[in-house]
Amino acid sequence: MENTITIEDIGKDTEILMQVDVKNLMPLQGDFPDKEWGEINSDTKEKYACILDNLCVLQIPMPKTPEEEEELVNKFLDGMRKLFTKENNWTFFSILETTMEHCAKCNTCSDACHLYEATGHNEMYRPNYRSEIFRRIYFKYIKNKPFAKWRYGDVDLNWRTVARLGELAYRCNICRRCAQTCPIGVDNALIAREIRKIFSQELGIAPPELHDKGSMLQLKTGSSTAMNKLVVKDNVQFIDEDFSEETGFQFETPWDVQGADILLIHNAGEILAWPENIAAFSIIFKAAGISWTLSSELAAYDSINYGVFYDDVQFARTVLLQAQAAKNLGVKKIVLGECGHAHKAFTVIADRVLPKALNTPRESCFPILRDIVMSGKIKFDPERNNFPVTCHDPCNLTRLMGIIKPQRDILHKLCPQFREMNPHGPYNYCCGGGSGFAIMSRNNISDWRTQITGRKKLSQILDSFSDSRGPEIQKYVCAPCSNCKGQLRDILRHYKLLEKEQLVYGGLVELIVNAMVDVNPGYIKWEDEG
Ligand code: SF4
Ligand code: SF4
Repeated sequence: MENTITIEDIGKDTEILMQVDVKNLMPLQGDFPDKEWGEINSDTKEKYACILDNLCVLQIPMPKTPEEEEELVNKFLDGMRKLFTKENNWTFFSILETTMEHCAKCNTCSDACHLYEATGHNEMYRPNYRSEIFRRIYFKYIKNKPFAKWRYGDVDLNWRTVARLGELAYRCNICRRCAQTCPIGVDNALIAREIRKIFSQELGIAPPELHDKGSMLQLKTGSSTAMNKLVVKDNVQFIDEDFSEETGFQFETPWDVQGADILLIHNAGEILAWPENIAAFSIIFKAAGISWTLSSELAAYDSINYGVFYDDVQFARTVLLQAQAAKNLGVKKIVLGECGHAHKAFTVIADRVLPKALNTPRESCFPILRDIVMSGKIKFDPERNNFPVTCHDPCNLTRLMGIIKPQRDILHKLCPQFREMNPHGPYNYCCGGGSGFAIMSRNNISDWRTQITGRKKLSQILDSFSDSRGPEIQKYVCAPCSNCKGQLRDILRHYKLLEKEQLVYGGLVELIVNAMVDVNPGYIKWEDEG
């Protein structure tokens, strides 16, 4: 199939609209063959409207009767109307309205989007393809503008249009690189996010990884990993014992310390997948003499908040639990560990929903880590980190929050061979796991993640190590975010980068501990954690 598609095609009565051809993908630097696009299983195809591009992230139940088709369209329009009333969408109404009313159709945003580039400039993944469909529906059906179809362009609003638009909202990492580049401040990422919100809040449809196994599980058990209070404490105790022995540095992670200076909240996924990150924080904080604690209250030992990707109500429910736990402990401030979306959720978006009484100061871990490293309280030997290191900037930390320098101050001090990616900082590219993709691998979603959404990031990583390619030189990608690490793990495995390039990834705190002279050498390991 060709890469050409028009806005009018969106409601067409065809099995799918388009399929990515792996032969058209942006080339990579080296021998990294792509595999053919996997098939969606027949059960999924039967139950859900997989009619966009041979990928089914959202899982919209296939309407069986004309009445069900009409219901889908009407509920979508009802949800859309709510988005454009202040009382129903006070969180995002104003920027959304600006985004709808102003687009010069200049396509500057397209050049900024890694998905558009990675797919070989496939029209369907152009940032404003999705936005323009949404905009036309807005002018014709929500604003009821006279002569809308001549003034703003027409769109055939049928159930296929709605179903495809819903899926298209999950062909975006919500990285906001397009928004950053738009000369008039239009935010295409917000449109994708608000379409997701209509589906979740109005139609009750959301990807199971984000909703059932994400938000709902976290609210019920305390964590989207399903670890309850007893299990999480048990696991962290095991980490303490294991890493105390391995590092020769004795430590015990503190729990529920009333009145501590800092309540640290990790992404609980780290506890299971990257325990070295949890241990590294405990080692650094102990070595620096920090007064800190973890909380074992419901949701307060897991900074995950998937609501930020798809649903304001789920977002608020999680944030309130986390803030209440901090209040109960009477800590001076809350500090977010290495998790980008949690940073955005709890330090920026939470400001819009938290009542004053629950507004404990919230901070990123990175300035605190920088201050510790620069303070002279801990002795370092940078020679232990004398291998090529580059830094992936999580979108939520850098582009959205401007946290750029603290991690670099640390990397420059402790890593003699640190080099930047190009571009980096606020102009970074998403790892491809953003907006929830990092935790999805159902059906053929892994193909989408590893071969398309993560493609530009892989290309950047390879470029940054152009002077040290091959399996002879050990290399490290510092990715201080749990979701980004999950995505990098899968890209690196898919293209066999440990074997071919001796390339591993990890957080920032691991590099700090790796350079500590009071810790046994070799904290970072060049092996697949399995
Ligand atoms: S969103 Fe901005 S950059 Fe993209 S086409 Fe519209 S005006 Fe141009
Ligand atoms: S937010 Fe990111 S992934 Fe989504 S359209 Fe914009 S640049 Fe592309």
